[in-house]
Amino acid sequence: MIMKPTSSPTRGARLRIWRALPVLAVAAALLLGSGAARADFADTQYIHLVYTAGQFTPDELNRVKAIAEDAYAHDSAFFTDVRLPGKITIDLNGRFHGATGMATPGDRGQPPHIVLRYADLDVMGLQPQYLFRHEIAHIFAFYWGAQGGLARPSRASDPLAEGLADYVAGGLDSLGLQLWWGHQFQLDGLWVDPETRFVGWYTMGGGMDRDATMLQRRVAIYDEPALFIKFVIDRFGRDAFRSFRAAYMAAVGERRRITPEATEAVFRDTLGASPSSVLSAFNAAASNAPIPQSEVQRMMLAHEAYASAQEFDLEASRPLAPRRLVASISDEFRALNKAMWSGDLAAAQQHLRAAQSMMAALKGRRGDIMVASVAHAIGHWGGRWRSSSQSAVRSSRRRAARA
Ligand SMILES: [Zn+2]
Repeated sequence: MIMKPTSSPTRGARLRIWRALPVLAVAAALLLGSGAARADFADTQYIHLVYTAGQFTPDELNRVKAIAEDAYAHDSAFFTDVRLPGKITIDLNGRFHGATGMATPGDRGQPPHIVLRYADLDVMGLQPQYLFRHEIAHIFAFYWGAQGGLARPSRASDPLAEGLADYVAGGLDSLGLQLWWGHQFQLDGLWVDPETRFVGWYTMGGGMDRDATMLQRRVAIYDEPALFIKFVIDRFGRDAFRSFRAAYMAAVGERRRITPEATEAVFRDTLGASPSSVLSAFNAAASNAPIPQSEVQRMMLAHEAYASAQEFDLEASRPLAPRRLVASISDEFRALNKAMWSGDLAAAQQHLRAAQSMMAALKGRRGDIMVASVAHAIGHWGGRWRSSSQSAVRSSRRRAARA
């Protein structure tokens, strides 16, 4: 996820407060005894890590530093000619809900800045390697202008922002983004027709149905744009995509709108082809990509697990959410992710179902007024989820029968 650069006068003040936090924390620790958390720092060549004192053993800290540096090296191999204005500050103790990381470009002399919920990853289900790659890619992308990079991060909105960060990171969980993902999303009803909704699915949920599931949003905002970027780079080259992105951002502008005429011009000027020909070729390439049966379950499980964890995260952040139930569901997600990462997909699916049914109970306790609409939402969401998993199984059977 990205946070747009802001010119509000409070930003500098906020950063000053943030910078003063270590000092305040030390003072508080002295006053309150050893119970208060104190910020600590660790630097690598390109990264300034901020964490809580005692959060890591020396070995764990070295591992985090290595993952961060690896992610930086990975991303800089794509953004070869981007010069960042300084080290990236990565604060590992984000306190927010609904996402696991946020990136701000830094400007007016401030360094680029990322906040991650590192301690929550075992519940949220993202591997640190992916999360670092994705967020660091946002930072590079801010400075990836049409030629040679921008002196300052662009203030135009970037409809392809999440797609580009995911493309560079190698898709969700760095599983290795491939066009067959699009084929699977088509089979599961998670695919937005790129020809009719070109602008809608690129604009951070703009034009999406209000009752779209977390999984539909994830695919529409992250995966499908990432696959589109992969398609364009594979077919037209990285530099053509770079020009396309810059022209598209400029045409969309701060109003986050684009006319059909402007869309036509962006495609023709930078890719030398009409939007309809490029988008229908993209759609067809996804449809025709063979789905490898050895990988499809893991790919869909990662998506369903993360969408589900995000739903849970939002539910659990409500003030009156019953703590014991929240703790049990957290344990279920931890077990799910552990099983998934170790390759035991059957066990992971079981934990997902268990977490899902407990989440239905969690939602059911929200209050009398909400009961009717919540029940509807659960039915809708649960039904879609099951149908998605079932269709993955069905499609794998179909293909197995064909092969
Ligand atoms: Zn992002």
